[in-house]
Amino acid sequence: MKKRIFTPGPTPLPEIVKLSQAEDIIHHRTQQFSEVLKEVSQGLKYVFQTNNPVLTFAASGTGAMEGAVANLLSSGDKVLVIRGGKFGERWAEICQSFGIEVTNIDIEWGTAVDPSIVEKKLKENQDIRAVFTQLVETSTGVVYDIESIAKIVGKTSAILVVDAISGLGAQPLSTDEWGIDVVVGGSQKALMLPPGLSFVTLSQRAWKNVENSNLPRYYWDFKKAKKSLDKKQTPYTPAVSLICALKESLRLIKEEGWENVINRHSVLARATREAISALGLSIFGHPASNVLTSVLVPSGVNEKELRKKMQDKYGVLVAGGQAKLSGKIIRIAHLGWMDSLDVITAISALEMSLKDLGYRINLGEGVRAAEEVLRG
Ligand SMILES: *Cc1c(COP(=O)(O)O)cnc(C)c1O
Repeated sequence: MKKRIFTPGPTPLPEIVKLSQAEDIIHHRTQQFSEVLKEVSQGLKYVFQTNNPVLTFAASGTGAMEGAVANLLSSGDKVLVIRGGKFGERWAEICQSFGIEVTNIDIEWGTAVDPSIVEKKLKENQDIRAVFTQLVETSTGVVYDIESIAKIVGKTSAILVVDAISGLGAQPLSTDEWGIDVVVGGSQKALMLPPGLSFVTLSQRAWKNVENSNLPRYYWDFKKAKKSLDKKQTPYTPAVSLICALKESLRLIKEEGWENVINRHSVLARATREAISALGLSIFGHPASNVLTSVLVPSGVNEKELRKKMQDKYGVLVAGGQAKLSGKIIRIAHLGWMDSLDVITAISALEMSLKDLGYRINLGEGVRAAEEVLRG
């Protein structure tokens, strides 16, 4: 059976990305690899919309999240964490494991943080060293107003650290223009690669924090990574094949153009949401991101059965809900190597599966609504 993946990581791979990984390994201490790293560095700056260097590590996204905490803070530091889902919780857990004092802004899952609450918390706690948030909270599908939050944090001595692992390359994010201090990315989302790489970029202000931070790190030493990158090297053996594949996916993004890539995601997201509404189903979370659409499982339908039907009968894999959203939502990604007809496929599989499970819908109503958006 032909299988199609619609999860918010990993995402489908373009042919050129798959092929590049079948090539002979090249040694990392060669001119040839330095050339690859040079091109990749330029491409990453373009995707992150920054002039600062972007560091690349062999680890899943969480690795670079931990690296950010370990390099930016000192024991006993106080931080603010926006917790609106599973990934907000992860920031808090990482900080706590390093002995950082965490103040959480807990928001209802499926809602976005009100930037004025961040402002208020920073006023009340002038000793906050950093604010940790997501661009898109992938467990709910909600996008946060990072531009406004960056303005607020920029007026204080705190730095803003954004986990943009799912949003990078799908959602508007201008690192330098918006004045974001630290942005973390990962390979298996909009960058159209297998899992295994994580990225981080730091502003001049954030690099000052690195100078003064005393938390333990060895592999995750950002200064060491930056020093190597300046010489088109990595301190240790990099994930050579993934970095060669990254060169190809960054070329695809450059060819399409960053704005066009973001716009494509926005259209696919809108088409998906129109389809869901046309089927009489409800979208979970607001404001919904370009990354994925969370759909409330209608009463009378079992979430596990629905996803199993979509996967086993139609070869379409979507994600379920995490933690307290388990069994309540399904998450349909429109992320990375995806186009109009991918949306049609996902919606069609959803329609047929719901019908198969005895849920009353009119076949084709979702597809039709999506088509109206996708035709442009
Ligand atoms: C995917 C994702 C991560 C990283 O998870 P890994 O499994 O470590 O790659 C972190 N934050 C967000 C918002 C994500 O979507």
